[in-house]
Amino acid sequence: MARPGSGWRDLKEEVLRLYSPLDVAQRYGLELRRMGRVWAARCPFHPDTRPSFFVYPDGFHCFGCGWHGNVVDFVAAAEQVGWREALDLLAGGHLGAPKAVRPPAPEERAPTAEELAAVQVAWETCRRHLRDRRPREYLTRRGIPLDVAEELGLGYWAPGVATRLEALGLVEAALAVGLLRRRRSPMGEELPRYWEPFRGRVIIPDLTRGGQARWLTGRAADDVTEPKYLNLSLPKPLLGLDTVEGEEAALVEGPLDWVAARAMGLPAVATLGAHVGRLKITSLARFRRVFLLFDADEAGQQAARDLAKALGRRAVIVPIPKGAKDVADLLLAQGGKGRLLRAMEAAREKKGG
Ligand SMILES: [Zn+2]
Repeated sequence: MARPGSGWRDLKEEVLRLYSPLDVAQRYGLELRRMGRVWAARCPFHPDTRPSFFVYPDGFHCFGCGWHGNVVDFVAAAEQVGWREALDLLAGGHLGAPKAVRPPAPEERAPTAEELAAVQVAWETCRRHLRDRRPREYLTRRGIPLDVAEELGLGYWAPGVATRLEALGLVEAALAVGLLRRRRSPMGEELPRYWEPFRGRVIIPDLTRGGQARWLTGRAADDVTEPKYLNLSLPKPLLGLDTVEGEEAALVEGPLDWVAARAMGLPAVATLGAHVGRLKITSLARFRRVFLLFDADEAGQQAARDLAKALGRRAVIVPIPKGAKDVADLLLAQGGKGRLLRAMEAAREKKGG
């Protein structure tokens, strides 16, 4: 349809007024989840294993591939048409071809030696910034002692990590695992530079017994930034599994619960999500006793029951003591540690030793 220049501008304004990004995301069949005050889905524009694609009141942003735009950009990218055609589609109400935006299947693969080297270098660089003001303030607010954070290998992604990766020739490997991301324009062409998605985040690594980092997650250093956690595009481990010795493990859900549980002296391992695959369950078989300290909400308790069934006799479900929603919360609560330890003993006795 031919329109004069100002006609396009008016139409665009009208379309932006008529359609919210949430509307458009729903019409395109994105599986949306509420994340705080915004919505998130798996990104329709890159292979995405987790909800990296955020829907804001005025547009979209993907923390995975860096795609960014408004509803017109979205329709243009999803339908693979120009913005004028996208405007016409929106104005005419001809929306929603879900097949056009089905995300490709996520890939699950083991990292290469180079990729592991990139993770290690990034982690080592981040560790040096743990005592910077921002991470220190965050840890203090969460009740995590600095020496515990140091012992667990926590760090902070400050400017300079990319430079270090570049100097060591690890940029390609870093891009492959999501430590760095290429900038992409909404039209999809690649620009020469990359960006650092983990910048400004507290880094929590998964360490081997030998003290090498093979995976990491980035926690937002405040309680406002979404997503709260940013992960690498590598399979999630059982966080902390290698550094637990002895016959008992305390299973928690999130990375911060894990840090809190370790701060309380527990042999903590984090599942990093409610769903725990068969392979991971097998790797928990070496423990005689596995305490399940999952979130107090219904989803957490359901996950604990499912996992307990899979783990059999060794599983002990521990209800989170009243007044707290998870283990991280208990670290801040008055007498929280004592209450949790007593709840664990009570659950153990109930189970019969
Ligand atoms: Zn994306």
